[in-house]
Amino acid sequence: MSAGERSRELYRRACRLMPAGVSSPVRAFRSVSSEPLFVASAAGCRITDADGREYLDYVGSWGPLILGHAAPEVVAAVCRAAAKGTSYGAPCAEEVELAELVVAAVPHIEMVRFVSSGTEAVMSAVRLARGVTGRDVVVKFSGCYHGHADHLLVSAGSGLATFSIPSSAGVPASFTAHTIVLPLDDVDAFHAVMRDRGQEIAAVLIEPIPANAGLLEQRPEFLHLLRDECTGCGALLIFDEVISGFRVGPAGAAGAYGITPDLTTYGKVIGGGLPVGAYGGPRSTMEHLAPLGPVYQAGTLSGNPVAMTAGITTLQRLLADGGAAYRELDRLGARLQCGLQSALDDAATSWSVVRAGSILWLSLQPGQPPRRYEDIDASVAIRYARLHAALLDRGVYLAPSAYEVMFLSLAHDDRAIDETIAAFHDAALAARG
Ligand SMILES: *Cc1c(COP(=O)(O)O)cnc(C)c1O
Repeated sequence: MSAGERSRELYRRACRLMPAGVSSPVRAFRSVSSEPLFVASAAGCRITDADGREYLDYVGSWGPLILGHAAPEVVAAVCRAAAKGTSYGAPCAEEVELAELVVAAVPHIEMVRFVSSGTEAVMSAVRLARGVTGRDVVVKFSGCYHGHADHLLVSAGSGLATFSIPSSAGVPASFTAHTIVLPLDDVDAFHAVMRDRGQEIAAVLIEPIPANAGLLEQRPEFLHLLRDECTGCGALLIFDEVISGFRVGPAGAAGAYGITPDLTTYGKVIGGGLPVGAYGGPRSTMEHLAPLGPVYQAGTLSGNPVAMTAGITTLQRLLADGGAAYRELDRLGARLQCGLQSALDDAATSWSVVRAGSILWLSLQPGQPPRRYEDIDASVAIRYARLHAALLDRGVYLAPSAYEVMFLSLAHDDRAIDETIAAFHDAALAARG
C-alpha cells in the first residue's frame, strides 16, 4: 500500500523544503522504493499516520522507546518538568539523579558526562581516549555505526550501507587517516593490526551487539580478545552501547558478556525519547575532561531538565523489581522470534530471525545468520522491500531498510505480537515472490 493522500501531500511540501523531505536519510523510504508515512501521533506500540491509518510499530523511534510511545509516566513527568523551565544552562538535580541511576546500574562506570545525542557521546569518548592515551589511531569495525562524526564515517552501517556509500562526501581523507577499519569476527586481522600498530592505538571502538547493519551477533571469544589486546597495548576499549545500553539489560552488552570496557557510550534508551547521550567510565579516566582536565567538551542543552526527566523515568521503570522489565522484554522477544520464524518457514523460505533480547532482525538469506557486514547478501534489499510493503498493507510498520533491526517495547503485548505474526504469514509469501 502506498502512503495515503495526506502523507503524500506533506511529502511533496517537505521535499521542496528539506533534502528528500526528511531530517535523517533512512526515513525517506528510498531503500524500500517507496514514500514515507507522516506520523500524526503514537501511543503504546502503535503509530497513526497523517491519513488516520494505524500501524503496529517496530521502529520505536529507532530504539529509544523501550516503554512504548507516549508512556503515561514519561509524558506526565516531562510535562511537570517542562512547566518548571525547559533549560537552565546550569546544573540541576535531574542530572545528578540520572547519573546516580547509571552509576548504580553499571559496575564499570563511576562518572558520566551528559550530551544531547549518541553522535556526540561517541565523538567525545573518542576524543577523551585520545587525550588520555596521547595516541591518535582508532580501530573500528565495518558495519558498526557510531554516529556521524567525520572520522567515524567509514564503513558505517545501515544509512550508508543502504546507499552503498563507503564513506561520506565532505570528509577530508586526512580526517579518517587515523581510523582503521576491520571486519567483525576476524581474529587474524585484529591480531595483525594490534601487533603492528598497537602502540599508536588510542581506542578500539565497537558496538558489542552490532545492530546498525543487520544484527551481527559476535562470538564472546572475539569480544574477550578485544579486551585482552587493548589491555596488552594500553589502548582503551570503547563499547558503543547507544543501542544496547539499558536495552539488553541493566549493564548493557558489557554485563551480558561479562566484559569491562574502559569507556561506554549511551544514547537512545537513556533519553527515553528525548535527546540525550552520555559517556562514562572510571573516575581516573573521566577526570581528564574539562574543567578538571585538558580534554574539552561542552553543550548548551546538555543535561537539560526535561530530557533528564524522560531518562530518569524510563530507567526507573526498567531497573525496578530486580529487572522484571527485561525478563518481560525477553519473553515477548522470544514469542515474536518464534512466531516470525514459523511464518518464514511456512512460506518455505530459508531465512532466519535473529534476536538479542528485544532487538530482532530478519536475515533474508539462506544459511547461518551473518556475523560480518561483508557476509550480508546485497539481494536481501529486494526481498525486504517486498516484505516491507506487504506488512504495511497489513498494518505492521517496520524500519524502511533491510539493514535495520526491529525494536520491541514493554507496550507490545501478546495480542500485538500475535497480530504481527499473523500478518507475517501472508507477507512472507509475498516477499518470497
Ligand atoms: C544511533 C547510534 C548512534 C548515534 O546516535 P544519534 O543519537 O543518532 O546521534 C551511535 N552509535 C550507535 C551504536 C547508534 O545506534
